[in-house]
Amino acid sequence: MVHAGHYHDNFGSATVPIYQTSTFAFENARQGANRFAGKEKGYIYTRIGNPTLQALEENMAVLEDGFGAITTGSGMGAVSVIYMGLLQAGAHMISTSSVYGPSRGIMEKHFSRFGVEYSYVDTSDTGQIKKAIKPNTRLLYLETPANPTIKLSDIEACAKLAHEHDILVVVDNTFSSPFLQNPLKLGADVVFHSVTKFVNGHADVVGGIIITATEALYQPLRHVMVNLGFNMDPHQAYLVLRGIKTLSLRVEKAQENAMTIAHWLEQHPKIKWVRYPGLKSHPQYELARKQMRGPGAMISFELKGGFDAGEQMINSVHIATLAVSLGGVETLIQHPASMTHASLSSEARLEADITDGLVRLSVGIEDVEDLINDLSQALDKVK
Ligand SMILES: *Cc1c(COP(=O)(O)O)cnc(C)c1O
Repeated sequence: MVHAGHYHDNFGSATVPIYQTSTFAFENARQGANRFAGKEKGYIYTRIGNPTLQALEENMAVLEDGFGAITTGSGMGAVSVIYMGLLQAGAHMISTSSVYGPSRGIMEKHFSRFGVEYSYVDTSDTGQIKKAIKPNTRLLYLETPANPTIKLSDIEACAKLAHEHDILVVVDNTFSSPFLQNPLKLGADVVFHSVTKFVNGHADVVGGIIITATEALYQPLRHVMVNLGFNMDPHQAYLVLRGIKTLSLRVEKAQENAMTIAHWLEQHPKIKWVRYPGLKSHPQYELARKQMRGPGAMISFELKGGFDAGEQMINSVHIATLAVSLGGVETLIQHPASMTHASLSSEARLEADITDGLVRLSVGIEDVEDLINDLSQALDKVK
């Protein structure tokens, strides 16, 4: 993580400098012509490429074991580039029903306007994927672990099934980070991250990155990113590169805290169930052990008191911050039914297993005793 794809310059900089420039001078007309024609390596214009962005792209391509990476201005920029680059009018996509809200929203509200078709199914069940496959299915989009249900999809089994039907597999790897899960190694064709979350890890950047298994997928996605203007800014990339240096330390500590908290929550009388891939009670505990190097730092749990209990609890925490987003060094708590998934109808929420008393916790790297004391006093206030 610290050295992957490390940048070198003539000054021996220990860190990657921020090339805060929009454009790059050519030595002469011929050089400009050659760069545009792709006959000479070098930079032209930052939307097309920039050394700071390239350093991040090379680093993440190594961490995800891919052909190459494409940085984007946000995680949703990455989703948009993937939809735009891999689908067309008349094509069909199958995706995870409890997928990150806006990933579903832009498909249903916008890509549908251009004639893209979609099915949202429980991708943790390959039988449901099989049933949803149509002659025009081009893309299987998986989010695993999914948000906020913490359900897993079996990447290897899904990729095998999809490839038998010439369907490409994309995995949103945001919840795991490349430290815990590498979908390309399990057969996926494209993986992406909202680097806003674990990859950057300090709640101070919004950004995205796509990593492809092959050059044949890299080129069209890069073309869409460049020409539709989904690029990242060099300063964003600098911060993300800095965050990646401590990715392993942060995720290890947060995961250790999460395991302790999950066990504690599981025995609490006001909690109906806890969903965490590190608990034996998780229905896919064995799959988590097979495809992830660790269970991560995201926990969901259901309060016996339902919707009101969810609101009371998140109103009563002091150390955990009441906020959406995840994957930072600080613990965040949110209530999907009243917040991130409030725009879904209650039927769509239930279909996606987002129950009224569901609370999502993104565990940070604080002292675990402090976190448990905080959650404990907040639960005491729940009627
Ligand atoms: C946050 C998030 C996104 C979107 O990323 P942004 O950086 O907010 O645009 C996509 N997928 C998942 C799982 C996320 O958590």
